[in-house]
Amino acid sequence: MNELLELNLKAVQATIARSVLLAKRDPTQVTLLAVSKTVAAENIEKMAKFGQTNFAENYVQEGVEKIKEIKERGSVSGLIWHFIGPLQSNKTKLVAENFDWVQTIDRLKIAQRLSEQRPSNLGPLQLCIQINIDGGLTKSGVSTEEALILAKEIVNLPQTVLRGIMTIPDPVQGVEQQMHVHKKAKMIFESIKYELNSKDFDTLSMGMSADIETAIAAGSTMVRVGTALFGARK
Ligand SMILES: *Cc1c(COP(=O)(O)O)cnc(C)c1O
Repeated sequence: MNELLELNLKAVQATIARSVLLAKRDPTQVTLLAVSKTVAAENIEKMAKFGQTNFAENYVQEGVEKIKEIKERGSVSGLIWHFIGPLQSNKTKLVAENFDWVQTIDRLKIAQRLSEQRPSNLGPLQLCIQINIDGGLTKSGVSTEEALILAKEIVNLPQTVLRGIMTIPDPVQGVEQQMHVHKKAKMIFESIKYELNSKDFDTLSMGMSADIETAIAAGSTMVRVGTALFGARK
């Protein structure tokens, strides 16, 4: 299992490096976020020892338990934790106290609560607005029209920093369709960035195991990868 995790990490890093090169982009502009939902804390620690720093969780309880377990054991440190699941008001405090990033902001109220509940000794919480990029009805995230309004409201909260947008498009067949959706997200990202005129707004979180290459070609700055790193989830 150890060797497999290390090989997976190297393979994903190579895919990212190749995509960045093909797109003639700066390699320092793309961050690998390891999606560790359902993955045991021990395997997260192993990945961290191979050099991975950014990890993401989808469920508050599961995430907080693993974060605490890893902190207590203290065999790895300096990890950066991203929350990427749906977030209800009654769970914002736990998230504000334990995570470094929240990428699924789709309402002002959630962002306000996170800002109020963020312990000041931890520094500001980093936020991304989730955009429902392909209009999928069952999915969370704001429309492209709502995104700019929400961004302008969030940008001035005291204990948070608005870092960018996040998308989870429905899986589509073929590179062209993937590219179409990712390019749309890139355009929205650039237009919000222009309107906000904020240098903190630097993160376009898009691309998962199945579409790392196209996401990076379209301008992603953060790919969220689970399966390709840790194997299929049960
Ligand atoms: C699970 C998940 C991922 C990772 O998906 P893989 O296909 O396993 O790489 C990325 N982003 C979000 C929001 C997820 O829930």
